Amino acid sequence: MHTIPFNKPYLTGRETQYIQEAVASGKISGDGIFTKKCHDFFKQQYGFSSLLTTSCTDALELAALLLEIREGDEVIAPSYTFVSTVNAFVLRGAKIVFADSEAHSPNIDVAQIESLISPRTKAIVVVHYAGMACDMDKVMDIAERHNLFVVEDAAQAIDAYYQSEKHQKPIALGRMGELAAFSFHETKNIISGEGGMLVVNDAQYFKRAEIIREKGTNRSAFFRGEIDKYGWVDVGSSFLPSDIIAAFLYAQLENLEAIQRRRREIWHRYYTALKPLEQTGYIQLPTIPVYATNNAHMFYLLCENLEQRSALIAHLKSQGISAVFHYLSLHKSPFYQSKHDGRHLPHCDRYADTLLRLPMFYELTEVQQDRVISSIKSFFNA
Ligand SMILES: *Cc1c(COP(=O)(O)O)cnc(C)c1O
Repeated sequence: MHTIPFNKPYLTGRETQYIQEAVASGKISGDGIFTKKCHDFFKQQYGFSSLLTTSCTDALELAALLLEIREGDEVIAPSYTFVSTVNAFVLRGAKIVFADSEAHSPNIDVAQIESLISPRTKAIVVVHYAGMACDMDKVMDIAERHNLFVVEDAAQAIDAYYQSEKHQKPIALGRMGELAAFSFHETKNIISGEGGMLVVNDAQYFKRAEIIREKGTNRSAFFRGEIDKYGWVDVGSSFLPSDIIAAFLYAQLENLEAIQRRRREIWHRYYTALKPLEQTGYIQLPTIPVYATNNAHMFYLLCENLEQRSALIAHLKSQGISAVFHYLSLHKSPFYQSKHDGRHLPHCDRYADTLLRLPMFYELTEVQQDRVISSIKSFFNA
């Protein structure tokens, strides 16, 4: 019996060719020709003013530095997320005020945000879980009224959109907060092994973002010929990736449309096949809000409870299928539990206990997918 992995990184074909070209160009440190090609692609495709980073985690750390988050500041974020969403701000000394998820999705419960704001609140960090948009009109409205920054953790949200009531055309996720962070980790739709990107939507931050990303120096401006020597002008770190990473990423970007088309196909095939199980009440399937598009980053279902999910994982494993749960509530984590203010976040806990992610990758065949589907059905005797 062949095993079906949860994820398999997809190489579109040109990755190693472009890496060779980068190597042959004689400049493989950061901000080489492929980094520029990626930046241009993102500008053209989504209107992003972007800076590639070595990870989404780094992009978030860069965001926290840019917004001058410091000791005593509070940052509102969902508890159902990856640690990096909040670690970036904890590193600057901020206190995280965790919000619950929505009843119908793991995204932050926007209706709860306002009650969590205090005079110390500096920023709201939203996570577009599974690439499905948070209700950004509401988030931006709250932020504006309370003078708060918004950072979008768009790690899973490449090629996904939000339909704002204020605009006719859908807006790309990552285009609405002052800053947004994307990931190109091998588990995401578009990959470079490790990799990420900061998107700067408030132009006043762009120059400083470049400087912090380049060890606190104005080397980026120097390379563009804008100044005749560069030096230490600010705080900073090394957040820029080698052009080898960008070369890999560019090969992926050239195939973005095909990758997305196939992933959406797989997603809808799961959805259609599992719908009867939802209708008979065995499981719950994702709901896509009217204001969100689906970038097919992930296919998840919700079990009834933790015991049932564990049994289903074991059942699938016995059939050679790797399905995995996702986040554990951060407000209950060993690191943050004692710092959390004690509020119960029941929806977050429910997703931590019941959410199950199915194998989802470009090269998943229909035969493999049918095996996953029939194994789930046999578990429920359906
Ligand atoms: C993957 C992910 C990250 C981390 O991305 P890296 O590129 O691995 O640093 C952060 N937040 C969310 C929501 C993610 O899914």
